[in-house]
Amino acid sequence: MKNASIKKYFGNTPKSSIETPSSSSHANENNNKRSREEVEVSEYEIVGDPTLRKPINDYSINIREEVRRRYITKGACQPKAHNFPKTQICGQLRKFQKTWFDRFCWLEYSASKDAAFSLWCYLFPTGNRHGDEVFINHGFRNWKKAFENFRDHEGGQNSRHNHARVQFELFKDQRHNLDNVLSQKFKQDEIVYRVRLTAVVDVIRFLSKQGLAFRGHDESISSNSRGNFLELATLYCERNDEVNKAFNSKSYGNNQLTSPKIQKEIVNACAAEVRKIIVNEIKDKFFSILIDESRDCSIKEQMAVVLRYVDDVGEVIERFVGVVGGMLPTLVHHL
Ligand SMILES: [Zn+2]
Repeated sequence: MKNASIKKYFGNTPKSSIETPSSSSHANENNNKRSREEVEVSEYEIVGDPTLRKPINDYSINIREEVRRRYITKGACQPKAHNFPKTQICGQLRKFQKTWFDRFCWLEYSASKDAAFSLWCYLFPTGNRHGDEVFINHGFRNWKKAFENFRDHEGGQNSRHNHARVQFELFKDQRHNLDNVLSQKFKQDEIVYRVRLTAVVDVIRFLSKQGLAFRGHDESISSNSRGNFLELATLYCERNDEVNKAFNSKSYGNNQLTSPKIQKEIVNACAAEVRKIIVNEIKDKFFSILIDESRDCSIKEQMAVVLRYVDDVGEVIERFVGVVGGMLPTLVHHL
């Protein structure tokens, strides 16, 4: 399973709050048929550096509007504190000037490429996206007459840039009214999401610490014993009104955070946090690795790995870091 950071859960707004308006309960019937996955945008999709972004038209039509909204909320990439490098241009050393950001609010700077881009043209490209659109695809780097070139890029009323600007402003106006209506709901959603997530993490931490199994043989709603995870979560709900409300709100649908996949992801995220603490504790001190290997009935080798070291107060510490299968390189990667 791909390692997931705990920040993935706590850092995100609740899934319901990043849905496009067209997927809300007010949307038309067709849009309601979209699956939840189709309208979700990962936080990793929204990239600050313009060079590293995926072209807007490469996003599925279902999420393109949401991607635009996220970029508009984030604002143009204008790293004013960046140490802009100097480049030899026509015999003189020149560099990007941060004052250009004050004059051109659409202007973006890519630190990885030392180049300027246009946010509006990125969000609302016209014509062939593979064409020679320097402010979208390649980046503008001629700092000698940059100011003039930026104004040229803005062009007249019918320029591509101005066409993008009009679309940008229309999009913002539409979103503005809608966002005001929805923002209060989203804030409330986020609070409830965090209550639910914290309860799930509590249950997972307890079961992990006690070394108890998570799953039950029969996890159906009619089962008498649905496994430790679901039973403990149910007990939590029965004893805590706030958690109970958070779990039983109908508006969250499948976003209950109780599926086996989510359980495993959060366990892995917790394990990653624990390993981080162990590594920080060891720092640059000497340590030894204790490995105990055994084979199961299918002749599959498993290695239990323990790190042994002396902490800052002179105490010998042994930390179990995990069970890994097979080869040493796998173990090194794991650590
Ligand atoms: Zn532009």
